[in-house]
Amino acid sequence: MTLIYPGSFDPVTLGHTDIAMRGAKIATRLIVAVLDNTNKQPLFSTAERIAFLQDALGHIGNIEIDSFSGLLAEYAKHKHATAILRGLRSPGDFESEARYATCNRLLSASNIETIFIPASPPLSFISSGIVREAALYINNLDDAALRNMVSPMVQDALKKRFNSK
Ligand code: ADP
Repeated sequence: MTLIYPGSFDPVTLGHTDIAMRGAKIATRLIVAVLDNTNKQPLFSTAERIAFLQDALGHIGNIEIDSFSGLLAEYAKHKHATAILRGLRSPGDFESEARYATCNRLLSASNIETIFIPASPPLSFISSGIVREAALYINNLDDAALRNMVSPMVQDALKKRFNSK
C-alpha cells in the first residue's frame, strides 16, 4: 500500500517526522510530498524543505521524499497511491482535515481516502508556524528552545536565517 503524506513542511518538525515514521510502519511505501505552492511565500524554498526531510527521514527504507504542485488528487493518482495520510493534533485540526478529505475523495477518480494518525501528545503542540514565530523572536537560537521541536539541521538553518539581528 502506497500512502502519500502531503504538507507544506515549512519547516519539517518533530511532529511531522513522528507521523511519517508511524505511517511508514503501516504502508509498504510512504511518499512525503512537499507542496510547491506558488501562491504562498514560504520561509524555506522547496529544495530546502526537501533537504530537511531527507535528512530527518531519508534513512527509513520505505520513505521517499518528493514535491508536487496542483491538485493533490491528481498527484496521488499519478503515484498510484492507495490513500492520503494526515496527522491530527486537535479537534480543530479534524474540522478542517475532514473537509479536505471529503474534497480529495470527490476530486479523485478513484475516490481516494484519507487516513488520520493522532499526534503523539508531547508533540501535539508543535506546528511549523510556531517554529517560524519562535525562531523570529528567540535571540539565541543555540539554546534549548527549538531543540524539542525540530531537527539539528533545521535548527541550524533557522539560526542562519534569523541570528543576524
Ligand atoms: P499545514 O497543512 O497547516 O500547512 P503542514 O503542512 O505543516 O500543515 O502539516 C502537514 C500534516 O502534518 C498535517 O496533516 C498536519 O496536521 C500534520 N502535523 C503538523 N504538525 C503536527 C504535529 N505536531 N503532530 C502531528 N501531526 C502534525
